[in-house]
Amino acid sequence: MHPTTKAIRIRSEQTNEMEHSSPLYLTSSFTFDNAEEMRAAFADETNDNIYSRFSNPTVQEFTDRMCALEGAESGYATASGMSAVFASFMTFLKKGDHLISCNAIFGSTHTIITKYLPKYGIEFTYVPAGKPEEWKNAIRPNTKMIYIETPTNPGLEIIDLEFAGSLAREYNLILNVDNCFATPVNQTPIQYGADIVLHSATKWLDGQGRVLGGVVVGKKALIHEIYLFCRSSGPALSPFNAWILSRSLETLDVRMERHSSNALYIAQQLENHPKISWLKYPYLKSHPQHAIAIKQMKNGGAIICFDLKGGLESGRKFLNNLKMLSLTANLGDTRSIASHPASTTHAKLTDEERAAVNITPGLIRISVGLEHRDDILNDILQTLEKC
Ligand SMILES: *Cc1c(COP(=O)(O)O)cnc(C)c1O
Repeated sequence: MHPTTKAIRIRSEQTNEMEHSSPLYLTSSFTFDNAEEMRAAFADETNDNIYSRFSNPTVQEFTDRMCALEGAESGYATASGMSAVFASFMTFLKKGDHLISCNAIFGSTHTIITKYLPKYGIEFTYVPAGKPEEWKNAIRPNTKMIYIETPTNPGLEIIDLEFAGSLAREYNLILNVDNCFATPVNQTPIQYGADIVLHSATKWLDGQGRVLGGVVVGKKALIHEIYLFCRSSGPALSPFNAWILSRSLETLDVRMERHSSNALYIAQQLENHPKISWLKYPYLKSHPQHAIAIKQMKNGGAIICFDLKGGLESGRKFLNNLKMLSLTANLGDTRSIASHPASTTHAKLTDEERAAVNITPGLIRISVGLEHRDDILNDILQTLEKC
């Protein structure tokens, strides 16, 4: 079966009611008939559910569907994308280890790497996303993991997964990929050698701005280690959120197709706009890593970013004059969203620090939704008139 079919058809449980839609097991714990059954479950002699911090059938359905989409052996679902990122670091990195990543990564991930990992004696090096030569030079004897996002948020830089995969194999490193921006519909990093793939399920996996969630998938032995860390530390996904997310996965393929075709159309229409100095979208020929994007992504995804010639002030005007697009701290929604990193998520950084992560004063990020493409475009065009 194709991954799309599996994402629709895989189910973990059906009750005696023979319901067609999957049941929701909203329970914190599970009961046993006798002491022997309970002993066997705790001794890992059976696969019985014990407690929803460890496992839950509704959560299992979501992870099974994600494994099918990513081509992964096993998975563990978490309460948010950040708890998935954190669990992947805490499980595999220890004092004295070294991590390689790019500084142009999701803000909270950047904070964990820069601020918290060093507290535990874990070293890191940030390398430029688009310069593979420098990646190799950054490897040290104590390097343990390569952590990447592609496309990056918000700069939409593309990292060559085939290159990252071969580097990880050559030096025996764990390749850990945040696949949030592409989604498994557009890109499957395991096929290029990723050991772990993780997601903020809050974004397109839900796709309707309703629930927070996260998931880590990958090789069975590695995921088992992550499971053991999470089972003790407790970032389990709520069964309710898992139930919502599993329903969403049934439409992920069709949603991503429309998100991507809307985004490509809008990117093409805006590319040469007089108020814009540059515009980036992975599936435009003008993207510096277009060739890699075409190689590893089935579609360009839902995010466009561009720079307003008028800088910071134009960025504010852009947001203030929008009539339909939402101003909200999320992305990956049916509703299109605009954001201006320099005055919001990255406002506390200095100009130099922002430049280092490719955030210009006039950078605008659009998460293209599922509204009619001309309504999204027209709202952007009318606000650009006022910038
Ligand atoms: C949102 C996001 C995260 C964090 O996910 P949460 O669900 O908000 O915790 C991680 N990586 C990327 C690329 C994101 O966009």
